[in-house]
Amino acid sequence: MPTALDALLSDVPGMPAKIVKALAKEQVMTVGEIVAWLPFRHEDRRHMEGASFQVSEIPACYRVQVTKTGNKYFGARRGAGLFEAQVEPMGGAAMGGLLTLRWWNMPFMSRAIAEGQELIIYGKVKEFKGRLLMDHPEYEVLGDEEETVKIHSGRITPVYRLKAGVTQKTLRTAAWHVLQSLGNAFTQDLLPVPSPKGEFAGWTRARAVKAVHFAETMEDLEKARRYLALEEFYGYQLRVVRRRRAVLEAGGHAHVAGPLAREFAESLPFEMTGAQKRSLEEIQRDMASNAPMNRLLHGDVGSGKTVVAFAAMLGAVESGKQAALMAPTQILAEQHFQTARKWLEPLGLNVALRTGTRAEEGGVELFNKKTSSKNDILIGTHALLHDENLVRNLGLVVIDEQHKFGVAQRARLIQKGNTPDVLVMTATPIPRTLTLTVYGDLDVSTLDERPKERGKIITKVRPATKQAEAAKFLLEQLEAGRQGYLVYPLIEESEKLDATAAKKGHEVWAKLLPHFQVGLLHGKLSAEEKDAVMREFRAGKLDALVSTTVIEVGVDVPNATVMYIHHAERYGLAQLHQLRGRIGRGTHTSYCVLFVKDKDEEAKSRLAIMEETTDGFRISEEDLKRRGPGDVMGKAQSGQAPLKFAELLADTRLVRLARQLAEKTLDEDPLLMAPRLAEVRGFVFQEDEPGAMRQ
Ligand code: ADP
Ligand code: MG
Repeated sequence: MPTALDALLSDVPGMPAKIVKALAKEQVMTVGEIVAWLPFRHEDRRHMEGASFQVSEIPACYRVQVTKTGNKYFGARRGAGLFEAQVEPMGGAAMGGLLTLRWWNMPFMSRAIAEGQELIIYGKVKEFKGRLLMDHPEYEVLGDEEETVKIHSGRITPVYRLKAGVTQKTLRTAAWHVLQSLGNAFTQDLLPVPSPKGEFAGWTRARAVKAVHFAETMEDLEKARRYLALEEFYGYQLRVVRRRRAVLEAGGHAHVAGPLAREFAESLPFEMTGAQKRSLEEIQRDMASNAPMNRLLHGDVGSGKTVVAFAAMLGAVESGKQAALMAPTQILAEQHFQTARKWLEPLGLNVALRTGTRAEEGGVELFNKKTSSKNDILIGTHALLHDENLVRNLGLVVIDEQHKFGVAQRARLIQKGNTPDVLVMTATPIPRTLTLTVYGDLDVSTLDERPKERGKIITKVRPATKQAEAAKFLLEQLEAGRQGYLVYPLIEESEKLDATAAKKGHEVWAKLLPHFQVGLLHGKLSAEEKDAVMREFRAGKLDALVSTTVIEVGVDVPNATVMYIHHAERYGLAQLHQLRGRIGRGTHTSYCVLFVKDKDEEAKSRLAIMEETTDGFRISEEDLKRRGPGDVMGKAQSGQAPLKFAELLADTRLVRLARQLAEKTLDEDPLLMAPRLAEVRGFVFQEDEPGAMRQ
């Protein structure tokens, strides 16, 4: 009789009692819990090396005997020191040299390893001053049973992420006996039966789960991981596809753009790029239909999203509705507001600004009061959410830098309208391979063309010691009438991070740039103070601005052509790219210098891509390669439980397959009544936040 998933571990044939006991201490009692505890990596221990130790960069597996152990202490601190165990290969002592295993700062190792013991070790053998060494090897102490050897070595060996009190060996032994005891049909499939010609022909969840723990071949292991990833992505896609369909079914209103939009385009001081025109057409087409729009405008920094948003907003206004634009910071809301006044007031529109602080002062800034008492265009921060009087009749909601908002905040603003059209904007250049997952329930318009007549940006990575030269260069630029940003990572001196604080930086730069006005902007200033500084910088009253990363998002001062980023090694590529996007917005050539710690070769190599390109998509792809999709998606995916197989998200083929399967399932079975779907039904139909209509 094969075991069932709800069976107790103590009932699994062959399961050692001490393993059951160790797991029970951590409240792990059932077969199912062990099955679900997936290994996070594997070691290829199939080939046990021969009778002598080989120096190699590739980790290898040896069976050895301990001949000697000892602790070495350095200094007075207890626990600081080195535990060494000398080992010889089993049955081959005479042929090769001895190997020394070393564990640093782990004095308790002396209790785990003793002379005479037989071990399986796994790690890299290196040579140092004539000695063969292996630092912090993976190891198993072997008892006599052949079974133990078979579980832990001579195979592709799973490595689990451990919880307190459970050792690798305990868990692996438990998993081994559990999987031996399970038949081939211990679990139902979530995925529809794979087509006999496809990649997954012959695979079931049961087979994949078994192989992901104890695979016989690397090919099987890879296939099993892909199968389980497909399953996970399928659940996720069922949810986004379902949500998308629900939005369409809810019905919306047609917002048809009229002459105003054309007038607006003609009044602009520039011609829209092809990408802007195309995106606007896509948006206007969505808005004109009865179904509500749910679209993402995805464009690199400086690609000109704001103009497109304003043009779209006119469509709502011309249909007798309001349009709202929500920005994540006051500085940004202010900036949009000023642009709106400049561009939209002449067309006879009423523009209102609502941010937190103004509300505290008891009001809203209204303009163009004379034409009408209605406010057509609302611009603000999340304070818009709390304004009951201002927001009355929303036809379009635009959310700028959407990744800065929580799902709940977005939903709240959307709910203020009666199924309004929704346009979210982001400058996070998510690689195309990931958009389908991250923005699976949105239609995507991409601004992949920079406005012409833009100056180039020249970027250099330099050691911090070159700052004096850089100051000379900045002086020349300021003398030519340009402006510059000097970016520091922190406001206060922090011992831990050893950062040069922005305040101190301000003192330094004020001296380096005599005769020029140097401003200071950081997060501890009040919103009014920040606004005042930004306004002065924008108006050209300040020549240089020392700032923390509060300028990161959206700020647009085309005359600024220089940006020096101090401690650039502390930033991620995506963040550097966002920061750099503040320059190169006018027609002049711009210059970005990334100062890194002297001799920080790792940082230099990581940041080299910034010298090569200003294309945010390329940079994010580089980021993807270096950090993996889990990290890159980070916030973009916020509110979502982390995926177990996130590293396979970049596999577009797999994600597309999941999408196709999900579409097909929902066509055939919109309420997911099939028994195999019971386990995801709750996840698919659950809303992110209580009362949230949609993302
Ligand atoms: P982002 O996409 O980063 O939000 P913005 O909307 O702030 O970019 O636009 C950046 C700057 O480029 C603004 O000063 C804007 O007026 C200008 N701009 C936008 N579109 C064009 C265009 N087609 N040609 C020239 N300048 C443009
Ligand atoms: Mg912007």
